[in-house]
Amino acid sequence: MKRVVIVGGVAGGATAAARLRRLDEKCSIVLLERGPYISYSNCGMPYRIGGVIEDDDELLLQTPQSFHRRFNVEVRVGEEVLTIDRASHKVRVKHLASGEDYEEPYDVLLLSPGASPIKPPIPNLDHPKVLALRDIPDMQRIMASLPPKPGHVSIIGGGFIGLELLENLHHLGHAVALWEMLPQVLPVLDAEMTAGLTRVLLKQGVTIHLGSAVAALEPLPDGNLIVRNGDDETEEAQLVILAVGVKPEVMLAQSCGLEIGALGGIRVNDRMQTSDPAIYAVGDAVEIMHLVTGKPTLLALAGPAQRQARVAADNIAGLDSHFPGVIGTFVIKLFNSELACTGVTESQLIRLGMPYRKLYCHGQDHAGYYPGATPINLKLLYDGESGHILGAQGCGQKDVARRIDIIASYIKMGGTTADLAQGEFCYAPQVGSAKDIVNMAGFIAENDRSAIAPLAHWSDWQPGWQNDPTKPLVLDVRSPGEYAQGHVLGALNIPVNDLRARISELPKGRRIWVYCRMGQRSHIATRILRGAGYDAYNVSGSFLTFLDHHPESVEYPTSQE
Ligand code: FAD
Repeated sequence: MKRVVIVGGVAGGATAAARLRRLDEKCSIVLLERGPYISYSNCGMPYRIGGVIEDDDELLLQTPQSFHRRFNVEVRVGEEVLTIDRASHKVRVKHLASGEDYEEPYDVLLLSPGASPIKPPIPNLDHPKVLALRDIPDMQRIMASLPPKPGHVSIIGGGFIGLELLENLHHLGHAVALWEMLPQVLPVLDAEMTAGLTRVLLKQGVTIHLGSAVAALEPLPDGNLIVRNGDDETEEAQLVILAVGVKPEVMLAQSCGLEIGALGGIRVNDRMQTSDPAIYAVGDAVEIMHLVTGKPTLLALAGPAQRQARVAADNIAGLDSHFPGVIGTFVIKLFNSELACTGVTESQLIRLGMPYRKLYCHGQDHAGYYPGATPINLKLLYDGESGHILGAQGCGQKDVARRIDIIASYIKMGGTTADLAQGEFCYAPQVGSAKDIVNMAGFIAENDRSAIAPLAHWSDWQPGWQNDPTKPLVLDVRSPGEYAQGHVLGALNIPVNDLRARISELPKGRRIWVYCRMGQRSHIATRILRGAGYDAYNVSGSFLTFLDHHPESVEYPTSQE
């Protein structure tokens, strides 16, 4: 009888065990988990801390007993695998309660050990009031260490886990300070796409220190800590949560000589086999192919871990199953803001030196005339030559993930901006628009690629341009009322409906950048100007995107008078 041993009993490990049993009723499956729980939702833990989820049990999808009853898997919790002997096909396991260890033989071994929180070199990280969130015992420790309300909590790291904890602790009534080393929150997105989220966080009364690496944690006699950054800014905290990212847990794999990739994850092939064909690995611990960059990547997300586990189980059961790779699709929802991303970001493309074009598209989640419509801001990255979609990011209040999921599906199928333009989606006024924002992004990209309405970008704009005739003239085609409420520094105002009559006011031969509020009127104006022989460009995302890029360069003529 084939003996399969699985290390790690949560997302990847438990999924693989269940799938394998569904495919093979006969093999023996042993699931070894270091912690006290298996098959629980890590993703729900921030919401348990915030009290949105009322009981720990709601996070536990299976207990060792229920898993055994349903899947006939021998589950051993509190058992840590210490070493792998590849020659004799045995693992050495420590029973953590007794400290005793024993050998466990395998025909096939599957590793799903996950990823552990990164610990930066900050003094006093081992202080009892400095905690990280990886598993249920961590969650219980954080809940037990929360100060009486309203307490002061500092969170180090403005990624997913840090932000989700921030929202939940804020809802509990604590004063939360966020420390992020980079100059933006959620650094997995392009900076301008997070500007709106930063505004939302500040409006909620959260203290945010951006571009602010924590340099020291100084214990106070009362048990609290002073959090200090390199510029000597400080906050006193009754609890500090460390959330600066995770790194693949590869010690076990490394010590038995399995190949480790350049990014520090276990190297696997598309059947999820490691460099030893008898050992499979899945989840946060592995390096996986990124379908857009064609390079290995690390991706600590639950969906990919579970799909990889299914592929590994299929192959262990004798099927021929392949994991295609990832494109990094994710969403985060907090304080009524939804931000989602798929494929690569502009910063990644720049880092990789890959050619790209980009656009911003402002729309709404459903038809504007139907009550309750909310704005969505979409950024699309694509190949200017072929039109292949490289990535997308969206932010808004609702149904952002739906749009990003659509684009993710196109990316996986090798889709182009022309495909987005002709994409066929559900529409009724309360759920969408006849021309969905995804279609609109496709239209804009196609107009850009064909030079019908080529795009310009605020990322290339600089404040001194209005005094430099060699630079583009920036034309605001909104109404005088809108212009008076704030416009791009030095912009000339000619409303779109007056443009044909006043076109002679514009210098021929000078490049013209046209903007309105969201991009529609500027598109029409760009076409009028190009039809009249002007070298006109539609500035992508118009004024709303300018606010995300250069809020300090908005001119308010009425308020200055
Ligand atoms: P894990 O689920 O972490 O399981 C690994 C297990 O292996 C651990 O229980 C560990 O104890 C055990 N183990 C390790 N070494 C050994 C050993 N030597 N012997 C025995 N056992 C061992 N992803 C999303 O897609 N969406 C989300 O909203 C989301 N939210 C998250 C929120 C939080 C707070 C956290 C921590 C993660 C979140 N994730 C989210 C990420 C997601 O949970 C992980 O990507 C997923 O759990 C990875 O699965 P895995 O099997 O690789 O690792």
